[in-house]
Amino acid sequence: MPNHIRWVLRQEHPNCPAYIPVPVPKQTGTIEDPLGIPKDVTEAAFLCSECGFATLYSQLHLDRDIGGTLDPYLENRLALVYLEVGCVSNCGSLTKIHAVLDVATGNFAAKKPMQQWVFDERVTCECGLPLLFYPAEFQSRYSAEMPF
Ligand SMILES: [Zn+2]
Ligand SMILES: [Zn+2]
Repeated sequence: MPNHIRWVLRQEHPNCPAYIPVPVPKQTGTIEDPLGIPKDVTEAAFLCSECGFATLYSQLHLDRDIGGTLDPYLENRLALVYLEVGCVSNCGSLTKIHAVLDVATGNFAAKKPMQQWVFDERVTCECGLPLLFYPAEFQSRYSAEMPF
């Protein structure tokens, strides 16, 4: 059985063992030295599809999952998108929250409804304030590149 590489983000978060499948990152390193030494310090918020918790991830959380199935992004089953969320004081800056989209249904792959999504207080707007998310029936989302 051929081994396929799928990229994931892993970070411990409350009551959830899940990881986040992501597209191929910007820096993949070599086969002998996956990722090499992480150099990119970019942090970006990602939503966990299993539990609906959004927190900050960086290159340090990237991992490779090697298995018998193809990368769902290469197969066009999943797509990475982002939505924009304002903050508690309405300062005008919008923070990107990356999320996984199920291409077949056109919906977020999240198993929890939007009303139950939780934003980690580490995810802040430009002025450092917590985000305030208004779940809406239709949430605008935009096609996203891997931020790191
Ligand atoms: Zn989770
Ligand atoms: Zn703000």
